[in-house]
Amino acid sequence: MTTATPSIWLHIGAGSFHRAHQAWYLHRLMAQGDCRWEIALSNIRDDAVPLFKALAAQNGEYTLETVTPEGERQYEKITSIKTLVPWDAELKGLIKQGADPRTKVIAFTVTESGYFLDNDHQLDPEHADIKADLRGEARTIYGALTRVLLARMAAHGNPLTLLNCDNLRHNGERFRQGFLTFLKLRNEPALLAWVTENTTSPNTMVDRITPRPTADIAPRVLDATGFADNAPVMAEAFIQWVIEDDFAAGRPALEKVNVEMVDSVLPWEEAKIRILNASHSCIAWAGTLVGQDFIHQSTQTQEIKEMAWEYVTQDVIPSLLPSPLDLENYRNVVLARFANPYIRDTNQRVAADGLSKIPGFITPTLMETYQRGETPRATSLLPALFFLFLQRWHQQDLPYDYQDGALDAAARHEMFSHKDALARYAADATLFGPLSQRAEFAALLERSVASLQSWARHPQPVSE
Ligand code: NAD
Repeated sequence: MTTATPSIWLHIGAGSFHRAHQAWYLHRLMAQGDCRWEIALSNIRDDAVPLFKALAAQNGEYTLETVTPEGERQYEKITSIKTLVPWDAELKGLIKQGADPRTKVIAFTVTESGYFLDNDHQLDPEHADIKADLRGEARTIYGALTRVLLARMAAHGNPLTLLNCDNLRHNGERFRQGFLTFLKLRNEPALLAWVTENTTSPNTMVDRITPRPTADIAPRVLDATGFADNAPVMAEAFIQWVIEDDFAAGRPALEKVNVEMVDSVLPWEEAKIRILNASHSCIAWAGTLVGQDFIHQSTQTQEIKEMAWEYVTQDVIPSLLPSPLDLENYRNVVLARFANPYIRDTNQRVAADGLSKIPGFITPTLMETYQRGETPRATSLLPALFFLFLQRWHQQDLPYDYQDGALDAAARHEMFSHKDALARYAADATLFGPLSQRAEFAALLERSVASLQSWARHPQPVSE
């Protein structure tokens, strides 16, 4: 099933995740004999130059090591990256590749913060990088795509898909809104009209835990495969990709490699946010409180695992039904993935940014459980854990620096200097929305904090 001129899937953002996720799927398709699409890999920043050098010496090929929760490791040589777009400060290589008529998808992973959206998901025109790009630079995805698409529009104007593969709720829509706002502010009416007419931005849900590669991967790869790989990457065995099937100029036959092509990604996104992301935070806060460093240790601590399990089972699953997913199975798989000791994800990394996680990941379940006429006892333990976590932070008693983009340190210290800190926390409308006005919610939170207070002062055994 080969053709003389394969279509190009141009990827911007040469991080580990792309190489463990999207590149793996396209590789699997090629391994089935379908070589109609191949990847051209590029980066906006110069930080991937050493990686590109290593990959170039290996014809773009590298080994992916995956590891199951049971410790089974597998090695696969990934061969889908056929072009390494040379980096230069003006992004000339990227512009040329993006304007090439064979390029029919431009996908990107530029991290969650690479979209410069405020709390209302609107583009922040005051950010220094956005300001620079509005003046014509190309530091961000918006400035880079503006250059690429101006060239494409001038050359032939063929349509294409702009595919966000970052971990963002409604990632396609939010990127697109940001990009269209950017083009308005940059006064590019012709390009704005062209993008509106000739591109699509489907939402996607991507999942595979991919830690930053460490030095011990290459010796294992050499040992297992005999290949002295200078650019290996490692990830968990689990992988998932759900995409809204709205491509402007065709797409690879991704459904053949188990990508879920759907009309709306929302049920998957919602399940991921409430079951995976919120449980992850719950485990990280609880684990930190009892003095543990790693997610797998905390997930293997009976009482912590039960908290996460009960939260999902009692309150989240009833909130998400009906769902096209098998939510109980999803919960079990997620908890097994978190217990994977070979991934060594830290409680510190996962506990970060708690203030913005409460309203998006947790408050909807609190509200919907009340709306069903039930009391969200299991869910209330999550903000209770976070309250105790913040209290420790205030007492300078956390084992690490707490990183939170939404933290107004002075205001939070002020809150905790009052005897009624918990009542103030429960009445915080940015965290709890309309529940902040309800006495029964404040009373519930108080009971949950009281139930955890003495438990959280003692180290807990890792039991599994
Ligand atoms: P990484 O640190 O390996 O790579 C980040 C890449 O993004 C680099 O190429 C860097 O140059 C580029 N980049 C960073 N900030 C940028 C900006 N403001 N503008 C343009 N480019 C920028 O990270 P990774 O592990 O590849 O993860 C990247 C993203 O993938 C995550 O932020 C997340 O949205 C998504 N993701 C990652 C995982 C994971 O487990 N690693 C899982 C699901 C989704």
